[in-house]
Amino acid sequence: MLDIARSIEENLVAWRRDFHMHPELGFHETRTSERVIEIAKSFGCRIRAGVGRTGVLAELGKGSPLIALRADMDALPLQEANQVNYVSQNTGVMHACGHDGHTAMLLGVVALLSKEILPGTVRLIFQPSEEVGDLEGVSGAPRMIADGAMQGVDMVIALHVDSSTPVGDIRVESGPASGGVDSWFATIEGKGGHAAKPHETVDPFYISAHIIMALYSIFSRRVSAFDPGVVSIGSLNGGFTQNVIPDRVEMTGTLRYTEARVREQIHSEIVRAFELARTLGGDYELRFETGTPPMQNHPEAVNLIRRVGGNILGNEHVLGMEKDLGAEDFGCFSEIAPGAMFLLGTRIEGDERVGHNPYFDIDERALPIGSAIMAECALQFLRGKV
Ligand SMILES: [Zn+2]
Ligand SMILES: [Zn+2]
Repeated sequence: MLDIARSIEENLVAWRRDFHMHPELGFHETRTSERVIEIAKSFGCRIRAGVGRTGVLAELGKGSPLIALRADMDALPLQEANQVNYVSQNTGVMHACGHDGHTAMLLGVVALLSKEILPGTVRLIFQPSEEVGDLEGVSGAPRMIADGAMQGVDMVIALHVDSSTPVGDIRVESGPASGGVDSWFATIEGKGGHAAKPHETVDPFYISAHIIMALYSIFSRRVSAFDPGVVSIGSLNGGFTQNVIPDRVEMTGTLRYTEARVREQIHSEIVRAFELARTLGGDYELRFETGTPPMQNHPEAVNLIRRVGGNILGNEHVLGMEKDLGAEDFGCFSEIAPGAMFLLGTRIEGDERVGHNPYFDIDERALPIGSAIMAECALQFLRGKV
């Protein structure tokens, strides 16, 4: 499969560079979807467009079993600093997370599988907006799921490029592979006044200081040391000038977890921390915004990826994964059907380019590897070799 994938490497690179030059932000992937539809149609796919707004479903084969393969298509609000001939043509927008490569590799899968007789169905999920939610805080995966993207799916697989792993290696691991995330938004209410007479005020900074300590103690004093998670403050705003104590302070932050039970506990501990505002004579408002669930890699999907990866690359090139509480909305898919995401090594040797950075880039020799592993996983799953 890798040999066949290498024979279409030129196409993969051309598609990836085309997407890279024309990056689009979450839920605005109109040009990208059009290109995806055009290419997928040319290989004989059945298409459903406008799924989860700008998402696309493409299918090959028919009947069951059904395996879904997913690529995200959105870019980031970042000005590219690379000097390459495929540099982003859209000011302030850049494919700095590798989703251009994901989309190209999934089109590669279409090309590879269009030549095969499929004993079942392969559904290619081209997903919008992995990085951000819409005005209601909902990202691309749950939007596509609400539009039926996961109907009848028996297994779901995805990959993410990894700029710290060499080309020719992949990483995959059973169990929690990314953190669940929720956001929280708070206002701490006090009573403002002259900074020289703090005793006549209810100082929201003083209250905030206690709340901050309580928030940062959740993961050392309140949650078991065996339960991974994070509470972080992301913004803290209040006040106007040096000699006025303001009425209020605004605070926002994130929380991460891998288990629903721990999520419940973190929520109630955050409420307890903000209750300090009342103890100290002030008040507070607090609301949570539900984000993506943790991504759980299912052992069956992981075994399939390991076996296929081992056959294609050699077992010594199938590595474990470092634990990470970063969020990935693929968790919404793998909540519905057994699934797994693996990391594909795309490191540029001697010149590592990390994601979400204006200098991000990948070694494009990884593209045929990603397509070959995804295509082979689909074939083996449909042939019942799980
Ligand atoms: Zn990203
Ligand atoms: Zn990403």
